[in-house]
Amino acid sequence: MTDRPGIVITGASGRMGQMLIRTVLESDAARLVGAVEREGNEWVGRDVGEMIGERELGVSITDDPLEAMAKAQAVIDFTSPAATVEFAGLAAQARAVHVIGTTGLTDGDIQKIGAAARHAVVVRAGNMSLGVNLLVQLTKKVAAALDEDFDVEVIEAHHRHKVDAPSGTALMLGEAAAEGRGIDHASNMDSGRDGITGARERGKIGYSAIRGGDIVGEHDVLFAGEGERVILRHIATDRRIFARGALKAALWGQGKHPGEYSMADVLGF
Ligand code: NAP
Repeated sequence: MTDRPGIVITGASGRMGQMLIRTVLESDAARLVGAVEREGNEWVGRDVGEMIGERELGVSITDDPLEAMAKAQAVIDFTSPAATVEFAGLAAQARAVHVIGTTGLTDGDIQKIGAAARHAVVVRAGNMSLGVNLLVQLTKKVAAALDEDFDVEVIEAHHRHKVDAPSGTALMLGEAAAEGRGIDHASNMDSGRDGITGARERGKIGYSAIRGGDIVGEHDVLFAGEGERVILRHIATDRRIFARGALKAALWGQGKHPGEYSMADVLGF
């Protein structure tokens, strides 16, 4: 069936890249038309099937993203900030939906992605899972219900290879808490405490990060008051939840007007 949207996976040999390839191959709603890796990567020129330990699939891994994207209706991208900014321009040129899972993007990166979104659909989320996006909505509600007598802390844990902190998900949750409280997030964010930091400032949104082992992703939003605490928690045990969410976003984006969208749009929250 050729009317199924063709999907390109960037960062194909990465942890998420491989999971995304399997998810697309298992889907009846999409087909895999390309896989991109960086120049010099050991898998470039080899078949995707060989990489994931399956039969030959007739799709080889390329280091030419534009060539791959020219055949695609969507690009699913879980790579690095610099790569994602480059891919945003190329996906827009190809008029392909760009689903961005990459975290650690700077404000400058987000601006550049915004420019690309004038010409194509971009769906970007620090976490593509149903559960976390529901947790974002709950966090907004609880933060609106509890005043500044309750200190907000976002506590996250991830595997030892993760390079950025706070995690993209932690930031989504902190931003939701700020929105619920009606305060600016950037000026109320308190992350990376170390040494004599002084007492906790009222109204700040604190962040703590744990890194170790093979933890897929755990997030608590703690509302700590005098004599009681409320904790909202999400635990991811399988990366498949992010890959399924990303594919859902790629399919949802087909035929939408150019612009930037979030998983809340995709999930209809
Ligand atoms: P990973 O295993 O390090 O994979 C990243 C892949 O991207 C690697 O294969 C890397 O290749 C490749 N890459 C980097 N620059 C590239 C370029 N210029 N061109 C082509 N490929 C390039 O990391 P991961 O655990 O899969 O995570 C990737 C990103 O997704 C991170 O930002 C992570 O935080 C995020 N993430 C988001 C969600 C979500 O739901 N939004 C969930 C999980 C992870 P090399 O190895 O050659 O550098």
